[in-house]
Amino acid sequence: METAELAALDREVLWHPFTQQLGWSEEAAPIIARAEGATLFDTDGNAYIDGVSSLWCNVHGHRHPAIDAAIRAQLDRVAHTTMLGLSHPPAIELARRLRDLAPAGLTRVFYSDSGSTAVEIAVKMAFQWWAQRGEPARTRFVCLENAYHGDTLGSVSVGGIDLFHSRYRPLLFDALRVAAGDAEALERTLARHGAEVAAVIVEPLVQGAAGMLLQPPGYLRAVRELCDRHGVLLICDEVATGFGRTGRMFACEHEQVSPDLMCVAKGLTGGYLPLAATLATEAIHDGFLGAHADYRTFFHGHTYTGNPLACAAALATLELFDSERTLEMLQPKIVLLERELAARVAPLEAVAEIRQRGFMVGIELAGFDPALRTGHRVTLAARRRGAIVRPLGDVVVLMPPLSIAPEQLRRLVEITAGAIAQAT
Ligand code: PLP
Repeated sequence: METAELAALDREVLWHPFTQQLGWSEEAAPIIARAEGATLFDTDGNAYIDGVSSLWCNVHGHRHPAIDAAIRAQLDRVAHTTMLGLSHPPAIELARRLRDLAPAGLTRVFYSDSGSTAVEIAVKMAFQWWAQRGEPARTRFVCLENAYHGDTLGSVSVGGIDLFHSRYRPLLFDALRVAAGDAEALERTLARHGAEVAAVIVEPLVQGAAGMLLQPPGYLRAVRELCDRHGVLLICDEVATGFGRTGRMFACEHEQVSPDLMCVAKGLTGGYLPLAATLATEAIHDGFLGAHADYRTFFHGHTYTGNPLACAAALATLELFDSERTLEMLQPKIVLLERELAARVAPLEAVAEIRQRGFMVGIELAGFDPALRTGHRVTLAARRRGAIVRPLGDVVVLMPPLSIAPEQLRRLVEITAGAIAQAT
């Protein structure tokens, strides 16, 4: 099918996520036909640098031979089998790998298919665990203002972005919200409500979807200590920060924090296939043990939970961190990115602030006005110059694959600077 025909059909039959369909008709968005490394190609053969890692999940680049081969090899064995009542080698091996990589104490792996469900699962686990320990009053969750933990009802309930809350309020449960980065605010809330609280949930170090808001050093450690002091669980949502994004495998490592529950997704399969996991401590796992008739079972699981192809892709992804020394190679690129942003983007009049942690960048544009859609116009201008970037309101996000070549990284910043200058 020709591009024009595909575009017309798209407008006729598709409903895109997080998208105002009315504007979509006029957008002429690229239709991506193939990709290689950090580059996407549309149906007309135009090349774009994948500046947001295909929604923050691509790690080692597109069409990496090792991940491609791992999926093909698994395809020759079995594409899908259930984990309800059965098991399979890639799920078992991947769980061991995750246990060995994760912060100490997270010894059990529960699979799902998206970041939202990984969070949903953590919330249900924490709730049920307390009930089964004989503390059924612990039903509440403490979350941070501007947090984003996904778009399913439970994950929105523990989120802190008002726009999503106001739309769906009658469908949500009430969480206790505290100011992000403020340990004293958390302390006050736990002092007052501690006995009703099942868990505190945080995005460690960086609140991604809020616009790459950075937490002060020591905050995560303080949160862990407060949770311990008040006897509540800590859930770390590493969906965006996990698998190298902040410069370490997991953001928790920067502050030597081990949560009780940890959610991972996005980069787990290198951005190839939908797979997520909720990691739990042995103590949480054991709180669900009992006779069959006790109904202490964790009542959760999806058709595609632990899909073998996705687990094979994840195993290959994690192996590449060793064989390609991904985190070591990333360090100079983090410095290069910082330097290029300071040289090219920071001097622009329209730029209010640049926030960077590792390979997570938010460029905040001055004078936010939702009607002007400046961030969106920057996206369109960047596209014309050969890069895909996606704004969060008026924050332009850069989150390239960790494997991006230094030259391409420089070009991405150059394109972004040019796009901001043109669109503002
Ligand atoms: N948690 C965090 C921190 C995220 O950034 C996201 C997505 O951006 C999610 C959860 C939801 O993940 P998914 O879109 O895979 O459901």
